[in-house]
Amino acid sequence: MDDQPPAAEPPRRPALSPSRASDFKQCPLLYRFRAVDRLPEVPTREQVRGTLVHSVLERLFSLPQAERVPGRAKELLRPVWTELSSGRPEWTDLFPGDDPGELHGWLESAERLVDAYFQLEDPRRLDPEACELHVETELGSGVLLRGYIDRLDVAPTGEIRVVDYKTGAAPRQIGEAKAMFQMKFYAVVLWRLRGVVPKQLKLMYLTDGQALAYTPDEAELVRFERTLEAIWQAILRAGRTGDFRPSPSKLCDWCSHQSRCPSFGGTPPEYPGWPEPDPGDESILDRAD
Ligand code: SF4
Repeated sequence: MDDQPPAAEPPRRPALSPSRASDFKQCPLLYRFRAVDRLPEVPTREQVRGTLVHSVLERLFSLPQAERVPGRAKELLRPVWTELSSGRPEWTDLFPGDDPGELHGWLESAERLVDAYFQLEDPRRLDPEACELHVETELGSGVLLRGYIDRLDVAPTGEIRVVDYKTGAAPRQIGEAKAMFQMKFYAVVLWRLRGVVPKQLKLMYLTDGQALAYTPDEAELVRFERTLEAIWQAILRAGRTGDFRPSPSKLCDWCSHQSRCPSFGGTPPEYPGWPEPDPGDESILDRAD
């Protein structure tokens, strides 16, 4: 019998994810707080609801095609909530026990998002290649890209569609540029992994029941790769010096770190230095924004 302890996993190389790249573009100081200081953020009910709905849609596609109907999807909400919230007191704390109606009302709001999904497409007619797909690729420049794709549809002809569900509370107009950045990020990763430019990038906004489809082309993805490389170089430069500046915008309304932000009269904690091994990863909440 082998008594050796299991070998420790090697530290993962620093990589760029769409969420952290968007953070840096929006506000370098926000990137620092999340990826370098790794300050905890209290999740909001809307964020957690997004994660719940994403998980329900993922499980819906593991059911036989004929069972992918609204009633079945909504039946999944409560057990998936129980499963996801177990071991996450910061999630259950969002619903203090003295008013069970609040959790009930929140689950009903998740039902409405599930209903909105079914208004946009019929999952009985779809056969995704993967849901919640982890992807990772290295660009020629050495920049490592990493992320999770909500759903990947591949036609028998080989055409690829990338699907992302949007469940966030921020108005669609504010989040649209960020969402398109994220989709192009995935398009680059898939193009480099599979040698095929995705035919369609599809955003499904469940809060307002609208879908947006976009067709990227190769020249655009080449340019976008350069953008990603430039962002990563800028992150590394700031990481060496600790010079992550605040960049206030209307998105500050959704920032958990105003009390530490000089733009709001706060003082950031002392710079802890560039983290090893792995700044830039995504959390379960990031994946469902
Ligand atoms: S409050 Fe605004 S400027 Fe300050 S860290 Fe957050 S996003 Fe950046």
